[in-house]
Amino acid sequence: MNNRVVYHQLLRAALKDSFKLTMASAPQQIREDALIEELREIVGDENVLSEPEELLVYECDGLPQHKHPPRAVVFPNSTEETSEVLEVLSDEGVSFAPRGAGTGLSGGALAINRGVVIELARMRKILRVDTENRLAVVQTGLVNAQLSRAVAPYGLYYVPDPSSQPACTIGGNIAENAGGIHCLKYGTTTDHVVGARVVLSDGSIVDLDVNSPGYDLLGVFVGSEGTFGIATEATVKLTPIPPAVRTLLADFTDVDDASRAVSAIIAAGMLPAALEMMDNAIIRAVEASVFAAGLPIDAEAVLLVELDGIDAGIDDEAEKAAAILKEHGARSVRSATDENERKKLWAARKGAFGAVGRLLPDVMIQDAVVPRSRLPEVLAETYRIGARYNLQLANVFHAGDGNLHPLICFDLRRGDDLERVRQAGREIMETCVRAGGSITGEHGVGLDKSSYLPLIFSEADMSAMLQVRAAFDPKGLCNPGKIIPTPQGCGEARAVATRSVSVSRAVATGPSRPGADPMNETLEALPRGQSLFAHSAGDATRMAITASSRNSTEQKQSLTATRVNDARIKRELSLLVGAEGVRRLSDTNPSAAFGNNLGAERALEVAPASAQQASEVMEFVVRENLAVNPAGAGTWLDVGNSTTGAALVLTARRMKTIVRHEPADLVATAEAGVTLVDFQTQLAQAGQWLPIDPSDDGRATVGGVIASGLGGPQSLGFGLPRSFVIGMRAVLADGRQIKAGGKVVKNVAGYDLCKLFTGSYGTLGFVTELTFKLRPLPEETRTVVACGPVGSLIVAGRKIATQFFPVAVEIVSERLVSEMKIDAKRGECALLIRFAGSSRGVISQTAQALKLLREEHNNRCDTFDEDERLWGKLSAAPLQFSEHISWRVKLRPTDLVSFINDIAELEADDASHVSLRWHAGIGDGHLRAMARAPMYHREAVRALERLRRKAENLGGSLILESAPMEIKREFDAWGDFGSTVELMKRVKQELDPQNVLSPGRFFTDGESV
Ligand SMILES: Cc1cc2nc3c(=O)[nH]c(=O)nc-3n(C[C@H](O)[C@H](O)[C@H](O)COP(=O)(O)OP(=O)(O)OC[C@H]3O[C@@H](n4cnc5c(N)ncnc54)[C@H](O)[C@@H]3O)c2cc1C
Repeated sequence: MNNRVVYHQLLRAALKDSFKLTMASAPQQIREDALIEELREIVGDENVLSEPEELLVYECDGLPQHKHPPRAVVFPNSTEETSEVLEVLSDEGVSFAPRGAGTGLSGGALAINRGVVIELARMRKILRVDTENRLAVVQTGLVNAQLSRAVAPYGLYYVPDPSSQPACTIGGNIAENAGGIHCLKYGTTTDHVVGARVVLSDGSIVDLDVNSPGYDLLGVFVGSEGTFGIATEATVKLTPIPPAVRTLLADFTDVDDASRAVSAIIAAGMLPAALEMMDNAIIRAVEASVFAAGLPIDAEAVLLVELDGIDAGIDDEAEKAAAILKEHGARSVRSATDENERKKLWAARKGAFGAVGRLLPDVMIQDAVVPRSRLPEVLAETYRIGARYNLQLANVFHAGDGNLHPLICFDLRRGDDLERVRQAGREIMETCVRAGGSITGEHGVGLDKSSYLPLIFSEADMSAMLQVRAAFDPKGLCNPGKIIPTPQGCGEARAVATRSVSVSRAVATGPSRPGADPMNETLEALPRGQSLFAHSAGDATRMAITASSRNSTEQKQSLTATRVNDARIKRELSLLVGAEGVRRLSDTNPSAAFGNNLGAERALEVAPASAQQASEVMEFVVRENLAVNPAGAGTWLDVGNSTTGAALVLTARRMKTIVRHEPADLVATAEAGVTLVDFQTQLAQAGQWLPIDPSDDGRATVGGVIASGLGGPQSLGFGLPRSFVIGMRAVLADGRQIKAGGKVVKNVAGYDLCKLFTGSYGTLGFVTELTFKLRPLPEETRTVVACGPVGSLIVAGRKIATQFFPVAVEIVSERLVSEMKIDAKRGECALLIRFAGSSRGVISQTAQALKLLREEHNNRCDTFDEDERLWGKLSAAPLQFSEHISWRVKLRPTDLVSFINDIAELEADDASHVSLRWHAGIGDGHLRAMARAPMYHREAVRALERLRRKAENLGGSLILESAPMEIKREFDAWGDFGSTVELMKRVKQELDPQNVLSPGRFFTDGESV
C-alpha cells in the first residue's frame, strides 16, 4: 500500500470520528463540509467544486427540463482516485451520479437528492492504440470525435458517431449505449466496446471483458445509464475506414413517400451504412443556420443515404438505391461529388438539433423507435398529435433504424405551457409503443422517461432488472432514481425495491418539513450501510435460502438425481405438461457425453409446450427442491462444469414455432426450440438470414445457440450472436415470466438483459422465445481455399484479414482438412477465406486474394462458389464424436499466431489428445480443438493446464467444453473469471437464489453459479 493511500485512510478514519461526534447536533452544512474535505484530500482542492454558483452547470444535462443541484462535483484523475472517492461515499451512505460531458438528453447525469457528481471529463487520455489488433484503450472522459481523429492516420476510426460526438464522452456513450448515424450497418456502442474497467459503488474495481468466460457483464453494463458503476477505462474496437463511400441526397414532396422508400431499400436486400431523414421544418431550420448545405427548402422531406465498402460494386449499389428512391417518388437524387460536399451534408444532419432553435426558442427532443415498416403511419400520427396540441413538430431521425426524434417546438414566452408539451410527448410515445416500438432508441430513460417504462415492461420484467442492478450496486447509491420507476403493484418487484417504495411515497407526498429533501430524509433514516434495495422480509428468507443452498449444491444435485425416479414427480410433471412432455432422456437421447456425466439412464426430460407450462414446471421444481438443466436439442448438455445429478432436463423441443418474420423490418421471432437450420430456411425465402454460424450439425436450436452465445468462423465479418438478439422471453427460476428488449432493431429502454442471458448456459433462466435482427443474404459468397505449411498460411491469412474485407479467415488443421475432403498434401493445412457481399465486390476481392496467395506465398489455391457445404462441415466438426475432448481458446489475433505453434506440437502427442483436429480464426483470434479422449486422462489434464496458463498469460482464455468426467473433475472448465467472480455470483444469487438452474455449471466449489 503506498503512503498516499495510507494517509487517506488515516485521514478518513479521523474525519469519520469527527463526523460521528458532530452528527447528532451539527447543522447539515458542517456535515457536508466534512465529507467535502475528505473528497478534497483524495483528488486535490482543485478537483472538487462545492460553491452553489459552481454547481449550477451540473444541475442539469442536455435536457434542461430536469434540474437537481448536486452537493459537490468531484473530478477524479484516475481509476484509483475514483475508487477511493466511491469508497468514502459508500461508507457515508451518500449517493452519486457519474457524468461525462453532460450532453445526455434524459436527465441521466444529475445527482438527485444532493448526491455527488463524479465528473470524468478530466480522464481523457488515449492510453494505447493497437493497430494490428484494431483496438484502443482509452480513459472514458475522452471526447468521442477525438478518438477517430487520433487513429485516422492508421486508416482506422471508431464507429459510434452520435451527432453530439464533438462533445460527448466515450464513458457517456457506453452508459447510454449511444447510437449514431452509421449504426444501421455497424451497430451501436455495445457492438464496439470489448472491455471496460469499472469502479463499483463500494469502490471495488472490476474488469469487464466481452471475451472472458462467464456472464456477459459488459453487455449488461453498456446502456445501464450510470446506475451500475463508473467506467473509467474502455477497450474499444477500431474499424478500417471504408475505401469507398457514396452519399446520396434524395428529396421528396411527400413525407409518406420518403418513409416508404426507407422500407423499400431494406426490403431490396440493401444495408446502407446510414439512412437518415429530415422533414421540411428541419430542412428550413438547417438552411437558415451555419450548417446550410444546399438542401431543397421546398422539399417535404429529404433522405440521406450513405453506402460504403470497397470500390468494386459500390456504384452498382448506389445506382440500385437511386432507382428505388425514384420509384418511390423522389423528385431528384443527387450524389455528393466530393468529400467536402459529403461532409457538408452530414454536418447539416448532425447540426439539425442545434438549428431548431431557429424555429422556436424552446424544444423538447423526443426519442422513440418503431418497426421500420410502421414509419409512414407513425410519422403521420406524430404530426396529427402536434396539430391537436397546437404545437409545431419537426422530425429528424435515423430512418433506417426506425429511430424517430420528433422535436416538439414551443415558446414559453408566448404562453405555451409545458404540461401541454408533455402530454403531446406522452401521446407520441404511446403511439410508438402501440406500433410495436420502444420508448427510447438512444437517449436513454434516465429521469425523464422512467414513468414511460411500464408502457413496455411488466412489473416482473422490471423486478428482474432491479435484481441485476442490486447485484452491481447492493446499497443503491449509484445514480439512484433513474430508469426504473418505483413498482406500484404486487410481486417480486415490490419485494426487491421495498425501500424504494417508501422513498417514493415520501417524495410523492412532499417534504415533511420546509426545505427538507424527502429522499435525503429517507436515506438518513436508513441504518448506515443498508441498501436502498435491501430486500424485505421475504428477501431475508430468500437470502437465508441462498446461503444454505450454496452449501448444499451437491446434496441438491444428488437429491434431484434420486427424486426424478420418483413416480410421483413424473406423474405431477405429466399433469403440468401432458404425458407426451415427460420421458426418460435415455429413451431418445443416447448422447454418450451426457450419459457419461449425468447418468442418462436416470435423467428425466420435461418438455413444456409453452412459456406458461415452463413457468409452472419451474414453480414445481422450486417447491420440490429439485434442480434443472435447461436445454434445447440436448446436443451439449455436458458443456462447462458438470451439473452432475441435476438430472431433470427442461427442454424447449416442443416449442418450435417461428412466431413472426417481418422482412421489411429485418426482424424475426422464434420459440427457443426452433432449430437454427429451420429458422435459416424460413428466412432465406425472403432473402434474409441470421448471420451466425455456431457449432451445429443440424440439431442446434436457437435457444441453445443463444444460451451458449458462441459464434463461428464468420463472427469475424458479422459479429457474435450477442449482437443479433434484440428481444427475449424467459422463465426465471421462481417461475416468473419476463421479457427483455423488444422487437425493434434499436432499443435502450431498461437494462440489456438479452446480453446477460446470452452465453449464461441456462444458469439464469429458461429462454422460451427470441427476437433477432437479421441481415440480407449476401448477393454472392465465395471461398478461397489455399493449402500449404501452417507457417506460410498464417502469414498470408493475417495479410488477407487486415488488408481485405473477408467475413472469415480460418486455418484448418491437417486431419480436419482430410475429413472435410479438401485436397491437401501430407503435412499441409488449409486456409479458408470467405468473402460475402455484392457480386462485383466478392469477385474482385477473391481475385486479389488469389493473386496474393499464389504470387507472394506460393500456395496452391482453389475457389468454391457453392461454399455452404464447406462451412457446414466445419461447423459440424465439434459434434462429430461423442467420446471426445473439445475446448476453445480466445486471444488477441496477433497472440493466436504463437499459440498455433503449441497446438501443432500437440498434434503429435497422442498421449494427451488422440487424433487432434483444430481450426483457428486468425482474423479475430479464436481457436477450437477436438480430439478423442486419451487412455489416461492425466496427460490431457497436464496439457490443458499448460495451454491455459499460456492463454491466460497472453490475456486470453481457454475453456473446456466437453470432456469425459475424469478430466472435468480435475480441470475446471472455465479458468480464471478474474475480478468479476463476486459480481457473477451476486447476479446468480439475485436471479436464482435457490440455485435451481444448472447448479455448478460455472463454479465447482459448492458455490451457487
Ligand atoms: C445535440 C445533441 C445531439 C445528440 N445526438 C445523439 C445521437 O445521435 N445519438 C445518441 O445516442 N445520443 C445523442 N445525444 C445524447 C448524448 O449526447 C449521448 O447520450 C451521449 O452518449 C452522452 O454522453 P456524455 O458524455 O455527454 O454523457 P452524460 O450526459 O454526462 O451522461 C449520460 C449518462 O451516462 C452516465 N455516465 C457518463 N459517464 C459515465 C461513465 N464514465 N461511467 C458510467 N456512467 C457514465 C451518466 O450518469 C448519465 O446517466 C445527443 C445530444 C445532444 C445534445
